[in-house]
Amino acid sequence: MIQTRQSPARSQVAIIGAGPAGLTLAHILHHHGIDSVVIERRDRAYVERRLRAGVLEQGTVDLFRALGVSARLDREGLVHHGINLQFSGERHRIALSDLTGGRAITIYGQHEVVKDLIAARLANDGPIWFDADDVSLHDLTSDKPRVHFRRDGRAHELHCDFVAGCDGSHGVSRSAVPTAERRTFERTYPFSWLGILAAVPPSLGEVIYAHHERGFALHSMRGPQVTRLYVQCGPDDGLDSWPDERVWLELKTRLSTTDGWTVQEGAVIEKSITALRSFVMEPMQYGQLFLAGDAAHVVPPTGAKGMNLAVADARVLGDALAQWYRAGDRSLLAEYSSTCLRRVWRAEHFSWFMTSMLHRFPDGDAFQQKLQLSQLRYVCTSTAAATSLAENYVGLEHV
Ligand SMILES: Cc1cc2nc3c(=O)[nH]c(=O)nc-3n(C[C@H](O)[C@H](O)[C@H](O)COP(=O)(O)OP(=O)(O)OC[C@H]3O[C@@H](n4cnc5c(N)ncnc54)[C@H](O)[C@@H]3O)c2cc1C
Repeated sequence: MIQTRQSPARSQVAIIGAGPAGLTLAHILHHHGIDSVVIERRDRAYVERRLRAGVLEQGTVDLFRALGVSARLDREGLVHHGINLQFSGERHRIALSDLTGGRAITIYGQHEVVKDLIAARLANDGPIWFDADDVSLHDLTSDKPRVHFRRDGRAHELHCDFVAGCDGSHGVSRSAVPTAERRTFERTYPFSWLGILAAVPPSLGEVIYAHHERGFALHSMRGPQVTRLYVQCGPDDGLDSWPDERVWLELKTRLSTTDGWTVQEGAVIEKSITALRSFVMEPMQYGQLFLAGDAAHVVPPTGAKGMNLAVADARVLGDALAQWYRAGDRSLLAEYSSTCLRRVWRAEHFSWFMTSMLHRFPDGDAFQQKLQLSQLRYVCTSTAAATSLAENYVGLEHV
């Protein structure tokens, strides 16, 4: 066994991945007096720069407050009480808070969440080992699992009681579960999202989801001076086929309303393409390995659920491990997978529902478009339908 002086040979919990799932779990465990080590493949600057989600459910914000990591989120996060659905050139507001007993969403970039969680972790002297290569998991069905990795050109071995696989959809944890021990469910959508970050104040104070015959578009924001915008694009499109002028033309066409409102242009700071797909692996546990977040499931971003699910898994796992260490009671750990999967499948359904209602499908005929418009009109005119959308969007407390 080889290791550096900074690397303890043992920790109660080894956490693979410093994304929202892994970092939130590290804080929950610290709160319960359980030690953990976070092992991350990338460097700190990389994970703090990675632009991804930006909508926090009420329950996610409440958890960060309880963990004492919400100071900047409370200062800079934009609390929104409604979202807008747009179709046939008309905008309709869904009053999230009025429909859900006062619950709301907070707009705050995932990379800002990650920055806050890393800063608070390091302030607590909690170890995060960045730049860890060749991570591999061993003896997962024994009570003495081990994690191997390379760092600073040297081989390391960490002994632990449990491994939390929080390393996203391309990590090593999911593939450490033998294929005979897992079942996967998957759907790939026949389109992607081209997203830009623009240096311009948001054109409206709230998020807009637009259905348009040319395809879906989304107006969101990352702060008072920065707008986040998406257009549906082809599944094989590259950035080359989307120069800024084309992006703005499509955004204006798809987001403009018949009363003359349109989006304001600004300098494009960042541009990327994200594929849309649904994926679930069951169960989310194998021996002493527990998967959390994108390592176990992926949702298309239309429902804004990915980061929130990752945080929700971390909460369930943190509480289950706390019960084990406090009382030697394994019942919550035994229920971990089934508890999480109830929320996961609700989010999968909601994300599929939003995606199906709002996008243009390549094989979609006029019949399908009429169904979409009927569903949109129903959600915008029926209190029952609007409440269903609102309670899923802000996050269900009990699933
Ligand atoms: C490109 C992209 C864009 C997205 N956009 C949106 C959006 O607009 N809206 C939305 O709601 N959701 C979006 N999502 C989904 C959301 O960001 C994810 O659901 C969320 O990041 C899940 O958090 P996580 O902690 O489970 O995984 P991640 O955030 O992926 O974190 C996993 C961590 O593990 C590390 N890691 C990976 N492999 C290894 C390894 N072998 N060893 C050690 N560490 C490893 C990674 O570097 C990473 O830091 C997006 C996701 C992606 C990938």
